[in-house]
Amino acid sequence: MADKRDYYEVLGVNKNATENEIKRAYRKVAKKYHPDMNPGDKNAEEKFKEASEAYEVLSDPDKRARYDQFGHAAFEQGGGGAGGFGGFDFGSGDMGDIFGDIFGDFFGGGSRSNARRNGPRQGANLRAAVRITFDEAIRGVDKELEITLKEKCNTCGGSGAKPGTSPETCSKCNGTGQVVYTQQSMFGMVRNVQPCPDCNGTGQVIRYKCADCSGTGYIKVRKKIKVPIPAGIDNGQSVRIREKGEPGINGGPRGDLLVNVNVSRHPKFQRQEYDIFSTEPITFAQAALGATIKIDTVDGPMDYTIKPGTQTDTKIRLKNKGVPSLRNKNLRGNHFVTLVVQVPERMTEAQKEALRRFQEAMGEVPPAQTDASGAAKTEPEKHEKHEKHERKGFFGGKKKK
Ligand SMILES: [Zn+2]
Ligand SMILES: [Zn+2]
Repeated sequence: MADKRDYYEVLGVNKNATENEIKRAYRKVAKKYHPDMNPGDKNAEEKFKEASEAYEVLSDPDKRARYDQFGHAAFEQGGGGAGGFGGFDFGSGDMGDIFGDIFGDFFGGGSRSNARRNGPRQGANLRAAVRITFDEAIRGVDKELEITLKEKCNTCGGSGAKPGTSPETCSKCNGTGQVVYTQQSMFGMVRNVQPCPDCNGTGQVIRYKCADCSGTGYIKVRKKIKVPIPAGIDNGQSVRIREKGEPGINGGPRGDLLVNVNVSRHPKFQRQEYDIFSTEPITFAQAALGATIKIDTVDGPMDYTIKPGTQTDTKIRLKNKGVPSLRNKNLRGNHFVTLVVQVPERMTEAQKEALRRFQEAMGEVPPAQTDASGAAKTEPEKHEKHEKHERKGFFGGKKKK
């Protein structure tokens, strides 16, 4: 594990490669090192495995995102932090499946050459989605999800055969579940093992079907599933619930349930990776004199002391007040707060008077005194010209109205 090569490097693509580029790159590498093309070549076999593993991760948007974020560590077992929820490891993935997916079209017929056709196989994964709030994503939450699962039919015990009858051995494949074709491919003659079309690879056919499950051996059941969502999860990431997918085949384990997590926006906080961003209003007096203010964080309001003379758009960093890391709850990002000085939009006469006195004390020229209502319109002017104009206005009489 220690000196594993970077997956992008293995496939020879850059980090921004599209799904198609990754697929094409994998095909190229896999063709070159395919065991059928390199019989007995251990090095080629390793290369082939390495490429398949890289492809399995990079072709899955969830896995790829985790890989981009955590590197190989994202898929190491026993990495701590993910306790109880089976999410971030790699290993149950069936190379046969990915192999079949990608080679299907160049071995022709969309088939897979999977020698274990008739053996126990894991069922297909199911997908579902949940929506959680911003705060739930920060703290982690257990969600309950109702899904339809296939369960073994009790009437026939999962055989699919009418009670009192039993499935019979398939005559086309003699119960092996496989049929073998040899076919011409771009590599020459390829021996191609396919699941038997008569029995769908089970090796058995059902003459008298169970009425309750129509011979499938399964009935559909609505089930409530608990989905433990870890603190720190981000919008679009998913949680894997082991063995809550489609039933396994020939005694294999069930597939997994992959729950995509949608995180709602927060009215005040924005998130970027593990950091949080927000703005906080402060008054002119607080900015000028300094003050202790309340700042909203995901942990609730906290006191923060601003220095006298704080300018608008001052950015402050609240260390460890960001989003907890998925791998370790105690590692957190930062919270960046932009302090914005608010200009009052409406003031009482007394407040205006106080401000005018303040202006005098600062040595500023008071505003157009000619208009006692305070409604004198000022036009926006370029800063450089400001002082000159104002003087003219003051000493040189009224400006145009
Ligand atoms: Zn049945
Ligand atoms: Zn058959």
